[in-house]
Amino acid sequence: MTALHGALVARIARTGPISVADYMTECLLHPTHGYYTTRDPLGAEGDFTTAPEISQMFGEMIGLWLAQVWMDQGAPGEFALVELGPGRGTLMADALRATARVPGFHAGLRLHLVEASPALRARQEAALQGHEVTFHDHPASLPDLPTYLIANEFFDALPIRQFQRAKTGWHERMIGVVDGQLAWGLAPEAPVEALADRVADTHEGQVVEWNASAQALAADFGNRIEALGGAALILDYGDEVSIGDTLQAVRGHAPVDALASPGATDLTAHVAFGPLASASRARASRLTPQGVFLERLGITARAEALAAKLQGAALDSHIAAHRRLTHPSEMGTLFKVLALTPTHCPAPPGLEPA
Ligand code: SAH
Repeated sequence: MTALHGALVARIARTGPISVADYMTECLLHPTHGYYTTRDPLGAEGDFTTAPEISQMFGEMIGLWLAQVWMDQGAPGEFALVELGPGRGTLMADALRATARVPGFHAGLRLHLVEASPALRARQEAALQGHEVTFHDHPASLPDLPTYLIANEFFDALPIRQFQRAKTGWHERMIGVVDGQLAWGLAPEAPVEALADRVADTHEGQVVEWNASAQALAADFGNRIEALGGAALILDYGDEVSIGDTLQAVRGHAPVDALASPGATDLTAHVAFGPLASASRARASRLTPQGVFLERLGITARAEALAAKLQGAALDSHIAAHRRLTHPSEMGTLFKVLALTPTHCPAPPGLEPA
């Protein structure tokens, strides 16, 4: 049993069952026992791997995308380059290397990273040596500058609430205690205003997830980008709308029980992109599979150029990495891309207007 398990059992005994959102927040961000607050979970020895850790090509493509959008908007002299949840800083380091020769881009950029984990902040500083970095606990403190923002596998870590469809209302899925152990339960049926439009496309017993924090962030970034210029590029696993229970716990690259070791396993949920697009005042792109997006940006030409310098095992693993990022049976289709750009600007590279 983890220390956080004991703390949660005591809290529930005192004040009653908690929502999935409260559970995720405690498990991921608890100041002393939280998953992200206490470790670097990435890489082969960690619990999961992400696209920038698979190949340098991922961060390079995104860096060039950001620089192109910046140029299309008249190359504003001073701007914020922002990443939410930068992990080990690999994506940003690759993006900065790829854009080093874009005239004026590095001179104008102010690097702002939103990161909750002290362990990962240290990794990011090391990866980005030579660049001045400002850290933020929350996007609310970002400066009022044109904002070019990237979030890869960040929105999936934001807390969701889950609701099971009843006759006309919903039962919220809650976490309580049975015989001293955390256990699933259902709150009494009640109407849920935020899910009013989901009664028509669901049937009794189906689960729908609602991510209030993600929608609030999309609304904030939409306002910021529409008013100040810039763009947001959100990459994650998910789809247009939420349907079904997608809460996922992972440890050592394998799925585990979400309630078994709170604070010691990663917890994520699929991102529902439709509500993010609707929450934004800026223009949302069409939701596009990651593989299609990367192909349109020229990842295959870049892969071939890199392959020319490789042989043997290094060449094999480079080819496998390209396939893993783009192939429909790997990350190419499950992962999606959504961009927000000002309504008066041209559509960004690789993405159509919605
Ligand atoms: N983008 C990176 C890491 C993804 S893991 C990559 O692609 O490799 C999720 C990242 O988001 C981690 O850096 C984690 O510490 C951070 N994070 C999760 N929830 C957060 C929150 N609420 N506020 C700030 N950072 C958060």
